[in-house]
Amino acid sequence: MDVIVLGGGLMGTASAYFLSGRGVRVTLIERNRIGTGATVASFGNIRRTGRHLSQLPLAHRSLRLWGETENMLGRDVEFRATGHIRLIFDEGGLTDMRTYAKAARPWGLELQELGPREIHARFPRLGPEAIAASFSPQDGSGNPRLIAPAFAETARKLGAAIVEDARVEQIVRTDSGFLVATSKGRFAAECLLNTAGAWGARIAAQFGEEVPLDVRGPQMGVTEPLPHRILPVVGIWTRDKDHGAYLRQVERGNIVFGGAAERVQVDLEPGHATADPTHLSLQLRAVARLVPAIARVAVIRTWSGCEGYVRDMLPVMGRSATTPGLFHAFGFCGHGFQLGPGVGDAMAELMTTGRCETSLDDFRIDRFG
Ligand SMILES: Cc1cc2nc3c(=O)[nH]c(=O)nc-3n(C[C@H](O)[C@H](O)[C@H](O)COP(=O)(O)OP(=O)(O)OC[C@H]3O[C@@H](n4cnc5c(N)ncnc54)[C@H](O)[C@@H]3O)c2cc1C
Repeated sequence: MDVIVLGGGLMGTASAYFLSGRGVRVTLIERNRIGTGATVASFGNIRRTGRHLSQLPLAHRSLRLWGETENMLGRDVEFRATGHIRLIFDEGGLTDMRTYAKAARPWGLELQELGPREIHARFPRLGPEAIAASFSPQDGSGNPRLIAPAFAETARKLGAAIVEDARVEQIVRTDSGFLVATSKGRFAAECLLNTAGAWGARIAAQFGEEVPLDVRGPQMGVTEPLPHRILPVVGIWTRDKDHGAYLRQVERGNIVFGGAAERVQVDLEPGHATADPTHLSLQLRAVARLVPAIARVAVIRTWSGCEGYVRDMLPVMGRSATTPGLFHAFGFCGHGFQLGPGVGDAMAELMTTGRCETSLDDFRIDRFG
């Protein structure tokens, strides 16, 4: 079996790796450089808390694989299971957390509830005014710069061809599969996997499949390095989007933060998302509620990234509904980083066996009617 994977972000590179591991001949075509789309811009949160329930089986599969990345890829991609804490400051947040925790339990996600005394004993620098928190000890973070190049490099060692800086000029369905004409030559394969991220809906549309997808950029920032004191990834349960911030401190000491601001507009061409400086003060105000010390720290960089948001906030994954041999995995709505390894593994299973042990039903491309 041979497969062309279109798009070399986390989803494309992980798929290339798992397909190659199953003996498939893979050609991965990326129009820029590997991992330079939404993936590199990611905050790096490997979080299951708050996910749509039907996404949890895929998230569990992915978390297991994140734990194996060092062995699998032969290098440390900085996956750290530091835990994920979400602070709560009001009764609305507490109700929402308890409702979610109860609903998520049958889906295999156990959230611990912490009271104020426990929060302050275990995490003394976090949320002095918090009334409670949820804690998920197995979650954590990874390095968004390392993961896609690591999957691509290991896929290459397993025999995959990785073609970068290739402008795709035409995709044609032939009697035996697909022909993709690019600025780097023509490639043919039996199957085509569309992992083109925010650009994925454009490719699906070429096969008569319309997906309601908006292109947006969440905004991130990072501070100067400080002594490493904050271990878990920190978020919040809140109904007020102006408070919806999150942060983590990397081992080198910088605090990365995001949330609490409108996502910026992005044009698919050229697909460069630019952070809006007017959002920064809003974000810092929200982050300071989680870690008050941030008020005295310098922000050294802000950025954004081009991400695809599907109308129902769920990705598109699985077989094409119009075209035999075509598969999709795109539109990860700002939460695909955690899912990446699981998506690659699940797509490779589906494409090589015709079945997938993890249900992908809710992510069907024809769900929009
Ligand atoms: C700022 C930001 C922060 C985020 N933070 C988190 C987080 O903390 N946790 C989390 O779980 N998720 C997070 N996400 C979401 C996560 O990063 C994405 O869902 C995930 O990286 C998507 O991976 P992808 O491979 O689908 O897309 P991408 O990484 O965008 O890869 C798609 C690739 O396809 C290429 N491409 C497009 N069209 C073509 C074509 N025609 N031919 C060839 N190649 C093509 C693009 O150049 C691109 O490299 C964040 C996203 C952003 C933008």
